[in-house]
Amino acid sequence: MAKIGILALQGDFYRHSLAVRRLEHEAVLVKDEAALKKCDKLIIPGGESTTFLHLMEKLNLRQPLLEFGREKAIMGTCAGLITLSKSAGHLPFPPLGLIDITVERNAYGRQVDSFVDTIRLNVNGTERPYEGVFIRAPKIAALGSDVRPLAWHKDDVVMAASENILVATFHPELTDDLRIHAYFIEQVG
Ligand code: GLN
Repeated sequence: MAKIGILALQGDFYRHSLAVRRLEHEAVLVKDEAALKKCDKLIIPGGESTTFLHLMEKLNLRQPLLEFGREKAIMGTCAGLITLSKSAGHLPFPPLGLIDITVERNAYGRQVDSFVDTIRLNVNGTERPYEGVFIRAPKIAALGSDVRPLAWHKDDVVMAASENILVATFHPELTDDLRIHAYFIEQVG
C-alpha cells in the first residue's frame, strides 16, 4: 500500500482521495511540508492555479514541492497541470517547471464552456475510450522532447508524462473510472 499525498490547499482534493482509497492505497491530505515528507507520490488537483501558487508561497511549500518533484512522482490535473508546467502565461508566481510543457489557460472559454467528451487514452500500448471531464480547462500548447503524449481529445494532447510527472487537462477524479489513478500509482516514476 503506497502513501499517496493529495495537495489539499484548495480545489478538488477530496474526490482524488476517494479514488486513491478505492484503489486500496492510503490517501494523505497535504497542507504542509511535514505531511508531504511522508508521501510516496503526490497529486495536485484541479482548482485555481493562481490560488495554488499564492498559497504555495505563503505556506513555504514551493521549495519542498520542487524537491519532491525531482525525486518522486507527481500527477497534476487541470490547475495541477498548470502548476507543474514550464510556462502558462500570466500568473502571480512562476509555475513549478517540473514538466516541459507550455500551457494555455482557460483555452476552451469560460466556465459555461466546460464539457464532457470521449477522449482516446493510450497508457498501455492500445488506444481506448475514456470519458474526459473538462472544466475551464487549459490546453497543452507545446510539449518538450522528453514528454510523451498519452491521451487525445480531437487533435489536442490532453494527458502527457515525463519520467515521473503525469499531467492531464481534465478531471479523472470526477468519473468512476480508476484507470488513470491506477496508472499513476502503479506505473509512473
Ligand atoms: N481555469 C483554472 C486555472 O486556470 C483551472 C480549472 C480547473 O482546475 N478545473 O487554474
